[in-house]
Amino acid sequence: MKKLMSANWKMYKTLGQATDTARELAAALGELPADREVLVFPPFTAIAGVAGAFAGRAGFSVGGQDLYPAAEGAFTGEIAPAMLLDLGCTWALTGHSERRHVLGEANEFVGAKTAFALDAGLNVCLCIGETIEERRAGRLEEVLTGHLAAGLADVAKDIGPERLAVAYEPVWAIGTGEVAGPADILAAHAYVRAELEKLLPSHGAEIRILYGGSVKPENTGEIISLDNVGGVLVGGASLQASSFSRIVTA
Ligand code: PEP
Repeated sequence: MKKLMSANWKMYKTLGQATDTARELAAALGELPADREVLVFPPFTAIAGVAGAFAGRAGFSVGGQDLYPAAEGAFTGEIAPAMLLDLGCTWALTGHSERRHVLGEANEFVGAKTAFALDAGLNVCLCIGETIEERRAGRLEEVLTGHLAAGLADVAKDIGPERLAVAYEPVWAIGTGEVAGPADILAAHAYVRAELEKLLPSHGAEIRILYGGSVKPENTGEIISLDNVGGVLVGGASLQASSFSRIVTA
């Protein structure tokens, strides 16, 4: 499968800024390398602009950074999968570490969102990863198993490999400039692969596992060539088209 090169723009960029960056990115990249796909998660208010900038470009997709697991209703401030689809999204993120650790989302809620979004027709990138305290306490595997088991609890066991990605993002490497070393990435991704094969026996071997955490143009080539790395999820270094375009083609 193609490497999924994804950008999380978090709570950055107005509609105009995001649309301009998406246009610059599409222009800088031209036709994508045959083995690459681009996926951008803008803030909700900029989704339509980014989708418009990518319209008609093969291999460019847009996703929502979050969703609420209901079709519609009295959920002030939340967003439904149908609303994301309506704006041109084909993907959604679930379980990003900032939602788990800043906004207090529990594993089970992340699982409800993941299953609901998939059932609604969105592809999902489920984010998982340990804090530095959990790693130091020797709890890496326990945390990854917990995030995966709850995150995928209600997902169809034969979900197609193109519909789901898992992003391994060690919390201590997100936005800190500290990248996990190749040995850490290899070990964590091998563990996630084995868990996916157990939880989703039909396609767990094919589902893409992305790495996220201080990915930059300079370190992408090495990271992307590691076993079981099916792409990247990039925050800070994805905000400029010049930097993210170098990551996509690294
Ligand atoms: C992220 O937000 O998912 C992320 C990996 O951020 P950064 O690349 O800035 O570490």
